[in-house]
Amino acid sequence: MRVLSANLGFPRMGANRELKRQVEAFWSGKVTDSALLKVVNELRKDHWVLQKNQLGLDIVPSNDFSLYDQVLDQAFTVGAIPKRYRDVFIKNDDLLPSALEGNMLSTYFAMARGYQQFPTEGSNLPVIDLEAMEMKKWFDTNYHYIVPEFDPTQQFKLTCNKFLEEYKQAKSFGIETRPVLIGPVSLLLLGKASPNSPADFAPIQLLERLLPVYEEIVKHLAEAGARSVQFDEPCLVQDLDSKISQSYHEAYSCLSMAAKKSSAEPIKIQLTTYFGNIVPNLAFIFPNLPIDGLHIDLVRAPQQFETVLSAAEKHPTLQLSIGIINGRNIWKTDLSAAFDMVKKAVAVLGTDRVIVTPSCSLLHTPHSLDAETELNPDVKDWLAFSVEKIKEIVLLTKAANNGIDSIKDELEANQRSIQTRRTSPKIHNPAVQERLKSIDHDMIRRRSTFDKRWEKQQEIFKLPDFPTTTIGSFPQTGEVRKARAAFKRGDISQEEYNKFINEEIKKCIQLQEKNDIDVIVHGEFERTDMVEFFGEHLEGYAFTKNGWVQSYGSRCVKPPIIYGDVYRPKPITVEVAKYAQSLTKKPLKGMLTGPVTMLQWSFVRDDQHHKPTTQQLALAIRDEVTDLEAAGINIIQIDEPALREGLPLRHSEWKEYLDWSVDCFLLASCSVADTTQIHTHMCYSDFYDIIDAISCMDADVITIENSRSDLKFLGAESFTYPNEIGPGIYDIHSPRIPSKEEMEHRLKEMLKRLKRNSIWVNPDCGLKTRKWNEVDLALKNMTEVAKKFRTMG
Ligand code: GLN
Ligand code: ZN
Repeated sequence: MRVLSANLGFPRMGANRELKRQVEAFWSGKVTDSALLKVVNELRKDHWVLQKNQLGLDIVPSNDFSLYDQVLDQAFTVGAIPKRYRDVFIKNDDLLPSALEGNMLSTYFAMARGYQQFPTEGSNLPVIDLEAMEMKKWFDTNYHYIVPEFDPTQQFKLTCNKFLEEYKQAKSFGIETRPVLIGPVSLLLLGKASPNSPADFAPIQLLERLLPVYEEIVKHLAEAGARSVQFDEPCLVQDLDSKISQSYHEAYSCLSMAAKKSSAEPIKIQLTTYFGNIVPNLAFIFPNLPIDGLHIDLVRAPQQFETVLSAAEKHPTLQLSIGIINGRNIWKTDLSAAFDMVKKAVAVLGTDRVIVTPSCSLLHTPHSLDAETELNPDVKDWLAFSVEKIKEIVLLTKAANNGIDSIKDELEANQRSIQTRRTSPKIHNPAVQERLKSIDHDMIRRRSTFDKRWEKQQEIFKLPDFPTTTIGSFPQTGEVRKARAAFKRGDISQEEYNKFINEEIKKCIQLQEKNDIDVIVHGEFERTDMVEFFGEHLEGYAFTKNGWVQSYGSRCVKPPIIYGDVYRPKPITVEVAKYAQSLTKKPLKGMLTGPVTMLQWSFVRDDQHHKPTTQQLALAIRDEVTDLEAAGINIIQIDEPALREGLPLRHSEWKEYLDWSVDCFLLASCSVADTTQIHTHMCYSDFYDIIDAISCMDADVITIENSRSDLKFLGAESFTYPNEIGPGIYDIHSPRIPSKEEMEHRLKEMLKRLKRNSIWVNPDCGLKTRKWNEVDLALKNMTEVAKKFRTMG
């Protein structure tokens, strides 16, 4: 037998985000479910044909497709549908497993996005107002999954046979696939206990009840002719209680029995891990977890190779799937180095026990480079998106089977690209590197302690107690987007565009003044996106036309690419800030994106550690901070909403990350005088576990998300924040106007734990997704609440 090539999952959106368009058209009632499913079927077929017939991949995945999210798919498949949705949509509990269509589809989307029905007067339809299930970041990626909910009385039942339909569909096109499912243990570990469950209940306790459904799945697939099935168990790369080892054992013994028991050919079980090192949990798998295949991520955790190889060697039938092509980033692979890894695996295990694959599902990489007609050709030559990555996998497999000479030409071209990238002056800028060496302790500390700064700032700004502000952006209306598009197309001139933006700024400042906001913002109308905007003004960044990756549901993001040493050629926001300040006597807050967020929301260089890349970004922001201050902008906000998401998956690595990321924030923010007030903003409130690091950032004021998490941060016993803090007092994600009462309630709660003169009053996050009238009414209520509290002792 020969070495095989495989993929673990393909991006679902389609080359032109067809899935997004069709799903959104369905949600807005413009197309029917059968029209939606027709497009979906074509898309799936295209992806299978592309991978198998055009690119020549041996093992092609199925059931990696999803209308919203693969974790939701799996929860749905096993019948983990919370009662509140069941009650509305599923009248007959004896349903046979069905495809995801009709009523099932409505249930599914209600879980993903919520569901509202407000009947008109006189109608006897009930009012229905169901919230969406919780969404959470998928490990340390920017993908978000729906968090399954489990009840202690949970009954599981095979409810949806999407996995089987997809397998059969591919087969009908003559394509044999390997179905992908979230494994039973990770499904439970990724889920949460439903509200009102007893405190000692953990979903993993349901494993025994869940396994029969998985057995059924295996049985159905075996009967349909599937030869192997991929169970994703990414939780294996995390810190796990050793008791969970028992759960893995129980689960996979059961699945392996089911595989052998089925009348058909036994189906092979592949356990798939990614995003980290499994060695700390190796005892969960070796010596005797009854699996046929194991996948490991050798891009994120190459250090596990030797250990896993020698463990696999002793497991005589185990196939090892080596994830050597980066599924999380967009760089071309060094085929020569990757081939060394293939050779090493083959030398130990033999050809028939090695599978060549991406490190994880390609869900996190854009579709293909074909559409990138405007990228600088040098940069483009260094990149590989999903399609190109599959080509690399196929080439490496060919080399493993037929000798390296069989890919001579391709290898030569590849090595040329790798070499040019390594030495290109586009990437390596000696001046930037020199500057990095000059970073010293003084550059990452404010001149005085917070108390001293506070006194000086009080004198200058003379802000009242409970000062009010907003997080930065104001409504990005259709007109704003239209004007930007017209400008980008060249339909309107720079002057016309600037004039338009200036009018928006004026409107925004007038609205804030009318509502008596104390610290004014300009509204961020000139920015599409807080990272892209700054990236476009920095050297070392490239932008794609079509490099979309799924963030959640139908939402995609197009992360810019940091390919080289980063610096700021000239000021970015100074003119706009000066103009905005000229319109008001109140202090105007300059608005910047922090270095860690710039890093987290970009595709980053893989030729150096994240730390120097972030330091370069920090120096660029620092220059901007310095220039803003010189231009008379004395309150500057540096947003770091992504700081938390950069946390490594294992606790033992948190400190190292937090040390350098906090230092990078300090590097960006500490050039200023005591009298300049630095703000930061973060879109989360669960930061008590990293509160020390956040305190070390030493921002004069921090604003955080809070209203949706019900003052969660206050609940933490040890919570103390040394500087000033504005826990958002209303949720900007909803169009509803927050009442004064609810905001008063939140403020009262805050007062129980925070010093009166340390509290700021502000919304949760930027207002860009809201409408002008909503913002107006909400801010009016907000300032009235602040004013009322000022008069109270
Ligand atoms: N200043 C940004 C805004 O208001 C912050 C956005 C964010 O936190 N994600 O839009
Ligand atoms: Zn935010």
